[in-house]
This record gives sequence, C-alpha cells and structure tokens, in this order.
Amino acid sequence: MNSTSDNTIDFDSARLKIKSASARASTSVNSSAQPSNGQIQQSLSQLLQTSLELDKILGLFFATLQQAMELDSMEYRHEARALQFDFGHPALHRCSYRLTHMGDFLGELRFSRSKRFTEAQLQGLESLLGSLLYPLRNALLYQEAITCALIDPLTGCGNRLAMDQALSRDIKHAIRKRTELCMLVIDIDHFKNINDTYGHAFGDEALKATVSACQSCLRDVDGLFRLGGEEFVVVLSDTNLTDARMIAERIRNAIATMQFELDGEAIPLTVSIGVARRRSDENQQGLYERCDQQMYKAKRAGRNRVIAEG
Ligand code: GH3
Ligand code: MG
Ligand code: MG
Repeated sequence: MNSTSDNTIDFDSARLKIKSASARASTSVNSSAQPSNGQIQQSLSQLLQTSLELDKILGLFFATLQQAMELDSMEYRHEARALQFDFGHPALHRCSYRLTHMGDFLGELRFSRSKRFTEAQLQGLESLLGSLLYPLRNALLYQEAITCALIDPLTGCGNRLAMDQALSRDIKHAIRKRTELCMLVIDIDHFKNINDTYGHAFGDEALKATVSACQSCLRDVDGLFRLGGEEFVVVLSDTNLTDARMIAERIRNAIATMQFELDGEAIPLTVSIGVARRRSDENQQGLYERCDQQMYKAKRAGRNRVIAEG
C-alpha cells in the first residue's frame, strides 16, 4: 500500500499546516532514522548560497537530503512559471509540500521513497526545508529577471539578446553535427501606414497578430525573435533551404490571409521575407546581413513575397 501526505509550509510564520494528519499518522512507524541535525542544516545553508540557478540549488538540496535519509526522488513544480525539475526516480510512498512566503507561492516539492516516511523523517525533512526559503526565493527572482531580459514584453517572443544567444548556440550545433541552418528575416509591409491610419495601439495589435501567425507555422524548437520595430527573425536549426523557403511561404500566406480587422473593416497585413542558408564559416552577423538583404530584395520586388538565397 502506498502513502501520501500533502502539506503547506508557510515560511513566514514557520508554521506547518498539516492537512492530512491521518495519512501522516499511518506512516509513522519508526523514528530511529531521525535525519536532521545541526551539521546537515549548516552545510545546507552554506551550499545553497553558492548558486542562483534554480536547478542547481534544488539538485544540491536533494543530494544533501539523501545524506540524511533514504529518498528516491524529489520533484519541483511551479506551474504558473512553467517550471519543472525532477531528481531521482519516483517510488511508492510520497509526501508533498506547497511552499509559500509573504503570500507568494514558491512552488511545490514532492518527495518519494520505497519505504514509508516515519513521523521523525517528515519532521526532519520539514526542518531542512527551512534552509531552502531564501535560496529558492532568490533563485526565482533571478530566473524571472533573466526571462524578462530575454523577452519582448509586447509580443512575448524572444528579443535581440535572446536571438544572439540562440543563434550562437545553434551555429555551434550546426558545425558540430554538420547540419544545415537557415534564417528568415520578416518585415511587415507599410507598417507605418497602419500606425498612421489606425493608431499606434492598433499597430501593436498587428505586431501581436503577426507573432501568433508566425508561431502557428513553426515547430516548438524554432526560435522566433523580435529584433525591434516590425522586424522579426526565425532561426531554423537542422533545416535545408527548400524547407526554409516553404516555411517562409507558409508564414507569408498565414499573415496575408489572416482575419485582421478593426470595427468590422478588414485590414490588409502582409510581410516581406528574406531567407538565407548559413554558408560554411559564416558567422552570426554575416548570416543576418545576407538574410536582411534578401528581405530588402523582396521589398523592392513588390512586397508580400519571399526571396531565398543558399
Ligand atoms: P516597409 O514596407 O518598407 O517595411 O515600410 P514600413 O512602413 O513598414 O517601414 P518603416 O521603417 O518606414 O516604418 C516602421 C514603423 O514601425 C515606424 C515605427 O513608428 C513603427 N514601430 C516601431 N516599433 C513599433 C511598436 O512597438 N509599435 C507600433 N505600433 N509601431 C512601431
Ligand atoms: Mg516594414
Ligand atoms: Mg522595418
């Protein structure tokens, strides 16, 4: 038979609200393996101050807990932040803790082991969880700051910095694995007219709609970035020129045919797209400049079209 217990740890008052005392009592069979002691708590506090990376902190926490008691797994979940980290392999007996501080939800930790948790072990676990409060809160703040620094706040897609990082990583991957990498530069046609005619706020909606249309044509692994204004870049790893051109055409068509309207009036929205395949020894800047040139050729050729170069 398995056992579970669900608890809330409110770090502010250091109070433990045990919601399922009965489930807990049934797991209390042996207190001889009391895990917590001052030494472990002290080394935990020191260890957890050594990083701001969430996965590292949680990994260190789990490894230290394993020294104190037999634990098979630890899972961390924070759904609102789309965070999930798993350590070890889940076993039959489980307990979980919702962690809160000053009214903020800091995530949920689930532990499992093949033997039942004793009451003493749960108490030991809970006392060690206290060492996690500030490191966990700081890591979440850090993670939020990093995310904000890479995201375009208007459209939610990656920004120029995010593109630089992704492209650098993807070019290294392409060189190592000898795979093809393509880029699309996408620029909205006559966007100034949209702003001038319908207002800046409507222009913002057009930018968001453009991002949604692009995303509907891309795989999860493809990076979409807003470089600024009404210009976007797509980085296509492991993709040849024929496929890249096809994806660009799909994006062009999705935007040209989308239902984009204001007070019932259909507003035409089109993009011009340049496509380039990375040449051997071409760096980030070289690839972007060549792709941008293709986009400008598409503008000169009449807009609402795709021009590609291998
Ligand atoms: P082309 O077809 O040659 O690309 O013409 P265009 O009008 O799209 O290009 P242009 O560079 O002349 O104008 C871009 C406009 O984009 C001008 C600028 O005010 C507007 N813009 C830049 N950033 C934003 C933004 O965040 N929101 C809105 N609404 N407009 C923006
Ligand atoms: Mg434009
Ligand atoms: Mg532009």
